[in-house]
Amino acid sequence: MPENPLSSYKKINLLDQSYSDLEAWFSSLGEPRFRALQLWKWMHQTISSDFCAMTNFSKQLRTHLEDVAEIRLPEIAMDHPSVDGTRKWLLRLEDGQCIEMVYIPEDGRGTLCVSSQVGCALDCTFCSTARQGFNRNLAVYEIIGQLWLANSILEKRSGGRNAVTNVVFMGMGEPLLNVKNVTEAIKIMLDDNAYGLSKRRVTLSTSGVVPALEQMVKEVDVALAVSLHAPDNATRNKLVPLNRKYPIEMLLQACKTWLKGKSHRERITFEYVMLAGVNDSLEQAGELGRLLSQIPSKVNLIPFNTFPGIEYKCSSKAQIDRFREELIKMDINTITRKTRGDDIDAACGQLAGQFQDKSRRESHFTKLEGTSGN
Ligand code: SAH
Repeated sequence: MPENPLSSYKKINLLDQSYSDLEAWFSSLGEPRFRALQLWKWMHQTISSDFCAMTNFSKQLRTHLEDVAEIRLPEIAMDHPSVDGTRKWLLRLEDGQCIEMVYIPEDGRGTLCVSSQVGCALDCTFCSTARQGFNRNLAVYEIIGQLWLANSILEKRSGGRNAVTNVVFMGMGEPLLNVKNVTEAIKIMLDDNAYGLSKRRVTLSTSGVVPALEQMVKEVDVALAVSLHAPDNATRNKLVPLNRKYPIEMLLQACKTWLKGKSHRERITFEYVMLAGVNDSLEQAGELGRLLSQIPSKVNLIPFNTFPGIEYKCSSKAQIDRFREELIKMDINTITRKTRGDDIDAACGQLAGQFQDKSRRESHFTKLEGTSGN
């Protein structure tokens, strides 16, 4: 069973069930197991939460489902459209905490940036989510519910297909500190009888929780993005304090293991936030290029998105261009990520949500000790 921190409701939430749980549940009702597939498709393909509309169920079964079950979703608390078409939603969860998700439409595709935790327990010094603290992990239905809601709200694409074609775990939280529920949600995203997203169109972004990465590679096959942000441990320790526990050498070793047995075309994306005077010199670009030459990689340079109270400054456009060219000279495929939705604070690292911080910031590393995923 997936872990659901909020399972005190009387009605069973079908959105929080794995496929095999659903089969077992229908059996317990005296129904054939194929009812699970029918419900699964209504829920995750048709994006329906209305048992009355599930016309391949008998009237009697529909009534029974209404009595004992529901498809319960986070509630939309706010909807912010950006001038560039990006859209950010604030979602209220059952315990009153709020998270954010962002939809980014582009030519031929629609990317949903989902959250995996309420807040974040990592203390990356340039990230707004980190400033807010941490409350808890999201349950499976709260992760998959983001995809469900976006598909339900957004207009369908041509051919009646759902709007979201790509999912990136780049919202609030560190997905590899919520491995169990994130894995379960990813399985549903990839399932042909559910959202049917291709494995190259689901990207897990991580700061590098090495043991969890090693565990995850055995469970699901998706694209991987690693938040590297510095080519040396001294600089990375300052930006991503998790580096003190899992330094660059260990992280890159785990990346190589991740790629083992995969197609030779597979690449790991390394994210690199551009901070003026901190990690953006040409020497650092050279060092980064040398470091990554040992791994099939591409680099995403992310112009730093500012927020109140932060001292870092974004590198100049000219410096970002020079940094990129330096990497390209070294044969590293490098792009600068286009900043989207900055008028609504929807860009990378700006997602804040609204929640109660349950973490005691100073004890983070005690808390992370021994963390191997969930
Ligand atoms: N915990 C995951 C997801 C974080 S958000 C991870 O660390 O990968 C996705 C990306 O945005 C990460 O690379 C993160 O480091 C980056 N990011 C965070 N704050 C940022 C900011 N203020 N400006 C630009 N990028 C930022």
